[in-house]
Amino acid sequence: MPNSATPTHCPYCALQCGMNLTPAPDGTVEVTERTDFPVNRGALCGKGRTAPAVLSSQVRLTSPLVRSGGTLVPATWDEALDRIAEGLGRTRREHGPDACGVFGGGGLTNEKAYTLGKFARVVLGTSQIDYNGRFCMSSAAAAGIKAFGLDRGLPFPLEDIPKTGCVILVGSNLAETMPPSLRFFHELRENGGKLIVIDPRRTKTAEQADLHLAPRPGTDLALALGLLHVVVAEGRVDEEYVAERTAGWEDARAAAMAHWPEYVERITGVSVPQLRETVRMFCEPEHAMVLTARGPEQQSKGTDTVGAWINLCLATGRAGRPLSGYGCLTGQGNGQGGREHGQKADQLPGYRKLDDPAARRHVAEVWGVDPDSLPGPGRSAYELLDALGTDIRSLLLMASNPVVSAPRAAHIEERIKSLDFLAVCDVVLSETAELADVVLPVTQWAEETGTTTSLEGRVLLRQRAITPPEGVRSDLEVMHELAARLGVEKGFPTDAEEVFEELRRASAGGPADYSGITYRRLVAENGVFWPCPAPAADGEGEGESEDASLDVVTGDDSVQDDTVAGPHPGTPRLFLDRFATPDGRARFIAVSHRAAAEEPDDEYPVLLTTGRVVSQYQSGAQTRRVAELNAAAPGPFVELHPRLAARLGAAEGDPVAVVSRRGRAVAPARITTGIRPDTVFMPFHWPGEGRANTLTNPALDPTSRMPEFKVCAVRVEAVEG
Ligand code: SF4
Repeated sequence: MPNSATPTHCPYCALQCGMNLTPAPDGTVEVTERTDFPVNRGALCGKGRTAPAVLSSQVRLTSPLVRSGGTLVPATWDEALDRIAEGLGRTRREHGPDACGVFGGGGLTNEKAYTLGKFARVVLGTSQIDYNGRFCMSSAAAAGIKAFGLDRGLPFPLEDIPKTGCVILVGSNLAETMPPSLRFFHELRENGGKLIVIDPRRTKTAEQADLHLAPRPGTDLALALGLLHVVVAEGRVDEEYVAERTAGWEDARAAAMAHWPEYVERITGVSVPQLRETVRMFCEPEHAMVLTARGPEQQSKGTDTVGAWINLCLATGRAGRPLSGYGCLTGQGNGQGGREHGQKADQLPGYRKLDDPAARRHVAEVWGVDPDSLPGPGRSAYELLDALGTDIRSLLLMASNPVVSAPRAAHIEERIKSLDFLAVCDVVLSETAELADVVLPVTQWAEETGTTTSLEGRVLLRQRAITPPEGVRSDLEVMHELAARLGVEKGFPTDAEEVFEELRRASAGGPADYSGITYRRLVAENGVFWPCPAPAADGEGEGESEDASLDVVTGDDSVQDDTVAGPHPGTPRLFLDRFATPDGRARFIAVSHRAAAEEPDDEYPVLLTTGRVVSQYQSGAQTRRVAELNAAAPGPFVELHPRLAARLGAAEGDPVAVVSRRGRAVAPARITTGIRPDTVFMPFHWPGEGRANTLTNPALDPTSRMPEFKVCAVRVEAVEG
């Protein structure tokens, strides 16, 4: 391996910040600035800066583990792989293919997500595959498809943000989740633009806004409807745009007009003057954007809530125009790519639909199988986890830690324990891996090459920078070996670029078309935005791959101009001419306010909302192993208003219990006036007594099947001692 700097990208969130990695003689890896990547221009948050700590961590798995006499003990790779093949094979024989479940992750590269979907459907023949990305942005994806005919997190590059006139940021705390992205919003304000933040908490992001609205959790849908009502009442609808580029306005308009500002004020707690001021700030500039994140999306009405925000953009002519639009700030590292290439229950590669006969034929041909042999759509993530130990008897799990991250987590933990067989691939012994029958230690980001797709829809190449430790193998090798043991000798290559070449063919012609993208282009162009079809002519474009092999590219001098004449440039900005619907028009989604699945009552009078802190990532499986991050964020807490704390008699740091219909969690009080008095907040990164997801409600959105992480009813109690 080279000992010079290798340009690559962060392993964590969907911003996918660029960084250089340099192995040092003592075995450590140095992260250095990479200023050529326009998204972060060298800036990194603490998680990215310390990411190499997990590579050399003492808690890193370097040997397969198998359960023997109730404990996990080291085993050889052959023993471990044989045991997985035997476990899955027996389940398939005795209970049928759908008794085998597969659960993936939004951190898997495109190549791994693609191969995992293929493995489930071709090798196991199961429909029961989904992934933790369902818990991330599925509501925005569903709303985007309904309204625009296509789901890509941002339909424009982040670099457009400073040039617009106003951004409404709904339920996103970028200062903690993606700190380098704040630069775009600072530049927006320096240019005279306005930032409006909508969040029940006065977060670090809200503190930087020109206007902060703090609605009651679970009422963002009513808030968006109230804003649209004001837009109509004040004559701010862009009638020409609505007539030329949209459909369904009358129904959406009627629904919004039923949401009077005074009614919306009663539901949300946001005052009528604040509603009017928001509309003024949003409508006066020539360009404006709405960006949503988990706040409005992780609700049992998440799809409708995002739809209401999209309606606001459409009614004011702020979608599919330069410097204006709606976007979703996808959270997980490869949350975008992970939902495009087949590890989602209803999907085939290229964002094709599993129930579309033409899509099945196309992908089956690439895979060399009979289209009729492909199973149909399966269950969504929570429904799959909830079925473990009942009709799903065995589970293969990659890059996910549902014992911490799933809603109603204590119940899901019990379901996992009731499985006949569980195999987990991970880099550390996560809380879920601790329950497994077999654990396989796998390579991670800096030790392997593969692509991810950022929240901008920019496909990126993460390059192998260091040699993996002795004893670990890649997920691709794992699937190759398991496929062979289960009777499928071909079709599961271990080389990421070979997988990508197949993915290109499988995605060709689909909504997320990667067929014009090669590894070499990704390096030469610092990423390529999809869709990027290969030139149509006679397949010549696909021939580009013949000499596109890539070992490690460390600088411009190793980049060759291997792009054939007329390659597609990629698509940084979508919908400028037409939306991706059959008639090219965007669709309004007529929606009305409805309450959260759980409203406060006498027994559970307070609302709980959950989220993240800057120094931990998702279930914390990796970041909780980094000393510097643990020092900054050592454990869970309950954020509550001084009035609520006074009622409990709780002081700062006192343990308080939060109790929901699903369980009880205890954590130290953090008292702040920055949260509504009727609401408490808990971060969800930790297991054990302070596990926030013990409390959360798995009520599902009817379209996206997103659980309601963001709001449930609880009571808060002082804890003796
Ligand atoms: Fe990594 Fe996200 Fe932090 Fe960037 S913002 S360094 S991608 S965790």
